[in-house]
Amino acid sequence: MTETTQRTVLVTGSTSGIGEAIALAFARDGHRVIVNGRDEERTAAAADEIRTATGSTAVEPVAADLATDEGAQAMLAAVPHVDVLVNNLGIFGAQPVFEIPDEEWRRFFEVNVLSGVRLTRLYAPAMAERGWGRVIFIASESAVMTPTEMVHYGMTKTAQIAVSRGFAQELKGTGVTVNTVLPGSTLTPGVEEFLRDRVGPDVPLDEAERRFMAEERPTSLLGRLIRPEEVASMVRYVGSDEASATTGAALRVDGGLIPAIVP
Ligand code: NAD
Repeated sequence: MTETTQRTVLVTGSTSGIGEAIALAFARDGHRVIVNGRDEERTAAAADEIRTATGSTAVEPVAADLATDEGAQAMLAAVPHVDVLVNNLGIFGAQPVFEIPDEEWRRFFEVNVLSGVRLTRLYAPAMAERGWGRVIFIASESAVMTPTEMVHYGMTKTAQIAVSRGFAQELKGTGVTVNTVLPGSTLTPGVEEFLRDRVGPDVPLDEAERRFMAEERPTSLLGRLIRPEEVASMVRYVGSDEASATTGAALRVDGGLIPAIVP
């Protein structure tokens, strides 16, 4: 790269969906990108795909379960220097709130919140010493619009905004920014499968999408699902030098779904 400094970017949970699109965007910009998932083969295959799609050779797979302390330590050992940390990894699943057992509340918290807290704790102090860094948590519109069908998921997304803001405050004046990005419903392979199950095999995907948005996401101003690349564009910006004055913020890529003028 000539004009921009090459950064090392770690995108957690980047073998598919939004994470993969984020990894692609940073790789396209010539940054060194660490692709992560739990399975060695799938992670290597995703890194290969990103290399092929971008022509970049600086795309490296590191398989590790980042919902655990051991996984985070293994990542740190494999990649000691990270400039841009994207805490994307996250799980979701519907369950009536009165039926969610303690273990499931803990699991959601561990995977969706603690994974990012741990990695920020491991990587951000060194970013601060170097005087430059970016930490980005991928939350959801569910952070501010609690979904009745998955309150535990919503809880983790709200918590991400709080911890992100807290880290930003602690890193005041260091050159390290910490922000949260809030995507709305995004057309990832998991959401596509959900839509197909919802309408059956005879209805085309675009019609399923249209019905879902009209019936389940009526406040969307976009009127369609967001594409993973659209979320990646915001993350790419927040992870860049240009975004130096944006920190402690919650940034919406929700197509106007949240019916409020501030998050
Ligand atoms: P996805 O299920 O398509 O991808 C998740 C990735 O995480 C995969 O690469 C998977 O291998 C990896 N992963 C899962 N558990 C892991 C672990 N313990 N350690 C390492 N990797 C692990 O997910 P997605 O839909 O692209 O969502 C990504 C993020 O965006 C999540 O935080 C999610 O909450 C958020 N989000 C998604 C949507 C949506 O509509 N898809 C909307 C708003 C927010």
